[in-house]
Amino acid sequence: MLKTTAKFAIFTALSTLLLQTSLPAQARPTQPTQTKNAEAVYKKAKAELPEEWYVVYRITERIARANGQDTSPWRVVVVPEYQTNAFATDVNLIAIYSGIMDQLAGDSSALACVIAHEMGHHVKRHIAVGEAEKDRIRKEAEAEVMAEAEDARDDVEGNAVGGAILGTVGGILGGAVGAASNVGQSALEGASRQRVADAEERVQEIVKQKEQEMAETFRRQESEADEVGYTYMTRAGFDPEGCLRVMDVLGRTPGAEFDTSHPSVPKRVEQIKALMTQYPAQTLAQEGKTRLTGNPLSYSLSSDGMSLRINRRGGGSTADDIDRRFGQ
Ligand SMILES: [Zn+2]
Repeated sequence: MLKTTAKFAIFTALSTLLLQTSLPAQARPTQPTQTKNAEAVYKKAKAELPEEWYVVYRITERIARANGQDTSPWRVVVVPEYQTNAFATDVNLIAIYSGIMDQLAGDSSALACVIAHEMGHHVKRHIAVGEAEKDRIRKEAEAEVMAEAEDARDDVEGNAVGGAILGTVGGILGGAVGAASNVGQSALEGASRQRVADAEERVQEIVKQKEQEMAETFRRQESEADEVGYTYMTRAGFDPEGCLRVMDVLGRTPGAEFDTSHPSVPKRVEQIKALMTQYPAQTLAQEGKTRLTGNPLSYSLSSDGMSLRINRRGGGSTADDIDRRFGQ
């Protein structure tokens, strides 16, 4: 026979269980109880930051912690321009146009998807790799164009023909190809115009092909960033459908269908839906929950007042870090 205290314990456990199951869904707390410290930090942030900074701080610090991306600081700039866009430049710098913040006002999950997507570009090293890739493609184009110019030169015996051909593509790929183009058109006189025209056409084809290669690289990177965006924001506990709502806004933005640097919006929607099946939201959220039990990351205002720094785990003061390590 059970002792009275044991019986009471079972009764309490049972009634708690019954109470929980009978509570309507909205009455149950959806987030783990925050630490007293977290509450104080967020309250202070809300009081002292402009609203849009408070919003990006809360979102970024949460995504960073939930995904183990809190070992170095993030910086966020809200660019006061009306564009439906965001971009990632410099190390861990995220720039968001106030336009997109307006378009997504009231929907923290949608904005979280945008921020997580930009974090994805950093995590995947797209900025560094992207520049190197562009450089490689440009150099290849230059070499192929030079070879075409060489051929044409041999054919028409005009020394400046190569330069003239290069001139036709100057600026299209930018930089290196255009640099060899400053030879005058007058040298074309007496040359076989047909040969030159053929060579020019081939050069245009090379340029077109290289531009397509670049666009493909960009589109691949966008898909990768979309995948990181979805998984990161979901791990942080946001509503994954927020990513679809962003796509809805992008899809209705004028000019979206002419954008070749991103996959088309319907394709991105398709990919996000596939990711939702591949990485179920509940599993991701559970993974993030265990990482979100600690204290929030702190923030600092940049000295020029233009950006917000979301500090690494352990804080944003190097002086304090030295003091902690070695004493004052
Ligand atoms: Zn992107």
